[in-house]
Amino acid sequence: MKMEEMIDTYFRPGRLPHIWCPGCGNGIVTGCIVKAINKLDLQKDSVAVISGIGCSSRASGYLDFNTVHSAHGRALPVATGVKLADPGLNVIVVTGDGDASAIGGNHLIHAARRNIDMTVVLYNNNIYGMTGGQYSPLTPEHSKATTAPYGNVEKSFDIPTLVKAAGATFVARATTFHAPLLADLIAQGIAHKGFSLIEAITACPISFGRQNKLGGPGDMIKWQRDHGLQLAAYEKLGEEQRAGKFPIGVLYKAEGVKEYTEAYDELIVAAQGGK
Ligand code: SF4
Repeated sequence: MKMEEMIDTYFRPGRLPHIWCPGCGNGIVTGCIVKAINKLDLQKDSVAVISGIGCSSRASGYLDFNTVHSAHGRALPVATGVKLADPGLNVIVVTGDGDASAIGGNHLIHAARRNIDMTVVLYNNNIYGMTGGQYSPLTPEHSKATTAPYGNVEKSFDIPTLVKAAGATFVARATTFHAPLLADLIAQGIAHKGFSLIEAITACPISFGRQNKLGGPGDMIKWQRDHGLQLAAYEKLGEEQRAGKFPIGVLYKAEGVKEYTEAYDELIVAAQGGK
């Protein structure tokens, strides 16, 4: 399908143009979600996109599926309710780094722990973009933010490690520079039966790049190109060579782990006297 056709098919023209700043990576990530859905040939009515609050979470309003633009940090509980009500739906959660790992952090670890069948696409732009450039749990140490004008002294989460430890059964990462890989990983996450999270490293030139003097959008995308390494290449590096680099691709996958809605349905059958 050509891009124009994809826009006509999967977006709500009445909600466009979008509000994202010129050079923002959110459109690339959202385009990758649509390409993944198209690649899997999913019926639009079989897809539910649930978002929280923030720049990236505006995507749910632009996309023409079953959608909920929920409250800050609360996309996962809403998505859990949607999935339990209709386990046949392909539930995709669109969330940002602040939304998912700060106010929504508790929901994130418990959704992963339950291995509920949904796909979280975490747009990681390293900052709270919409609310004014405050630092988030994914802002790199020493980076500047409006709430850390002399540099952030907190260490950031490694989200793939966090959700893997919590119980996620498919964990992956890519960047907007590696957009074809990102779309493929999102498709793999949707096809995976269980909790999947894809971290999408994306540029926020306005709230993060400007404060940290990272150049324009092109410079920030080149940074992604130069620092994201395929997992196999990353693993060949020594500890010192890895500094500043990060692995991309499928980082973890586990098969055969009981999925939450299936376990819940079995419990209902057993409680009603079945086997
Ligand atoms: Fe994108 Fe940053 Fe602008 Fe938000 S503030 S729309 S993340 S560039």
